[in-house]
Amino acid sequence: MVEPDIATPSIDTDGGFDFDDHFFGLVVLEKHDPRMVAKVRESWLKTRRFCREHLVPHVLSEDRKNMADPQYISWDLVRLAARHGQLSRFIPPFFGGGGEGAPAAMGPYAEEQSAVDTGFSGMLGGHGLGLVGLALTFNMRVLQRVAEKVVAGEKSETPYLIDAAITEPTAGTDVEEVELYPKARLISHAKKVPGGAILNGRKVFISTGHMASDHLVFMPFDLKDPVHDYGCFIVPKHAKGFSLGRKERKMGHLVSTVSELIFEDCFVPEEDIVLQTADGSGGSDPDRFAVLLETVLGITRTAVGAMGVGNARGSFERVLALAKRTLHKGRTLVNQQWAQTLLTNMHINVVTARSVYLESTFALMANLEGGLAGPLPPVLETALARRVFANRWFKKVFHSEKLRARMLDQLLETKPEGRARIQFMSSLSKVVGSDAAMENGHMAVEFLSRAGVRHDRGVEKGFRDAKLLQIFEGTNQLNRLNIFKHYLGRRLPGVKVF
Ligand SMILES: Cc1cc2nc3c(=O)[nH]c(=O)nc-3n(C[C@H](O)[C@H](O)[C@H](O)COP(=O)(O)OP(=O)(O)OC[C@H]3O[C@@H](n4cnc5c(N)ncnc54)[C@H](O)[C@@H]3O)c2cc1C
Repeated sequence: MVEPDIATPSIDTDGGFDFDDHFFGLVVLEKHDPRMVAKVRESWLKTRRFCREHLVPHVLSEDRKNMADPQYISWDLVRLAARHGQLSRFIPPFFGGGGEGAPAAMGPYAEEQSAVDTGFSGMLGGHGLGLVGLALTFNMRVLQRVAEKVVAGEKSETPYLIDAAITEPTAGTDVEEVELYPKARLISHAKKVPGGAILNGRKVFISTGHMASDHLVFMPFDLKDPVHDYGCFIVPKHAKGFSLGRKERKMGHLVSTVSELIFEDCFVPEEDIVLQTADGSGGSDPDRFAVLLETVLGITRTAVGAMGVGNARGSFERVLALAKRTLHKGRTLVNQQWAQTLLTNMHINVVTARSVYLESTFALMANLEGGLAGPLPPVLETALARRVFANRWFKKVFHSEKLRARMLDQLLETKPEGRARIQFMSSLSKVVGSDAAMENGHMAVEFLSRAGVRHDRGVEKGFRDAKLLQIFEGTNQLNRLNIFKHYLGRRLPGVKVF
């Protein structure tokens, strides 16, 4: 085999296919909701341009720098993301953000980014998980404060990121599923004190941890009954009693720091207690906690599925780029039937997994109550809305507990069958997308043999990045059980999963 001598081996940058080749469902939807789909198209194009023009040159070099020095942090990539508005894209325009939050934009955006660098997508995914988690507490006071910091950080080129810390050294899978919480061996906990709360414990494997300015931390007030009284807190990186522990050395997503967070009598003032599920009078609504966690996971598992599709497509595109230029017995690889079959198998994985994450997005749009998955009314996208949201009197109403309670109640109106549909579709998206990524990574390395295992071809990095997608947002084993429970299990009385 004669390998080509190529200058930019990491991806087939000529693009090739466009939006209309990939998203038939959205193209049909365009006839009914042209404004929303126009937003998705615009967001997809912007992502594609950013990734191909600005991200591609750094993908392999940043991976190498992280490999050589375990303490290295890819600040240059964080600044690049900030310069191009990548940290505030989904923040609504009334908070000063990019306003690309059309629900159907999330998947195509994550796919496009992951096709070029799944690690970069993981890095922004940690920040996104923090923003989604915060948004779903409906604490508009803290949300507005954080959103404005993200926007200001981009303008001043001092990027502001957050993360979301749930996993503990002794509780990973068990804190990804509401029904497993009572069995979880949680050690971290919060205690109410005058003027705020004290946090103690440890969180591990927190994406974006070393890069975040503030941490969104989840801990129960009551270790014996975490679902009954759970808390969510904002902890600034310089808070007394907080420190960063290890930056994990891991096999993939090297540009995304994954960190240990340590809390030793860390005081959180009242205004930074973002949520407490117990209502203060000794009562609480366990359903409130369940619906919040399920909604966060419904969104993030759909997105991880799209990351998987992106990773699988990245492997396919890299192989295609090399196959067009590699000679075998006097003919290019794309001219050999065996190679065409293999390329088609990789393409099949991409197309089938894409249709699952899109269906999962539509499941969210169809079933989630509270207007959360719908597009913003146009009036909220005007300059006037921006001025209104900055107004002190308006903030009093917007930040009120009364409004927050109304929003939470609306979300709680999501019907049980709607909740189940979101659950099994988002788990399906996550499993099918990440499995497609692993399969394509494996095929790509086999197809290219020694070129497949060379770092400078980009294929082995894609393969390393793929494996991690099967683990976070609940392992694929757990998500398989979740699919069984919420789809088949509902129709099999007496069969218990958890
Ligand atoms: C790159 C990366 C980034 C991450 N980012 C974050 C982050 O930003 N924030 C955060 O909070 N966490 C994060 N995590 C943690 C992640 O959510 C956990 O790794 C994941 O939930 C699995 O938990 P665990 O690793 O403790 O595995 P364990 O829970 O110890 O599971 C070990 C094995 O047992 C199986 N298993 C366990 N319990 C069950 C069960 N009840 N039924 C069936 N099988 C079971 C699992 O499927 C798995 O195969 C990240 C992890 C990685 C790898």
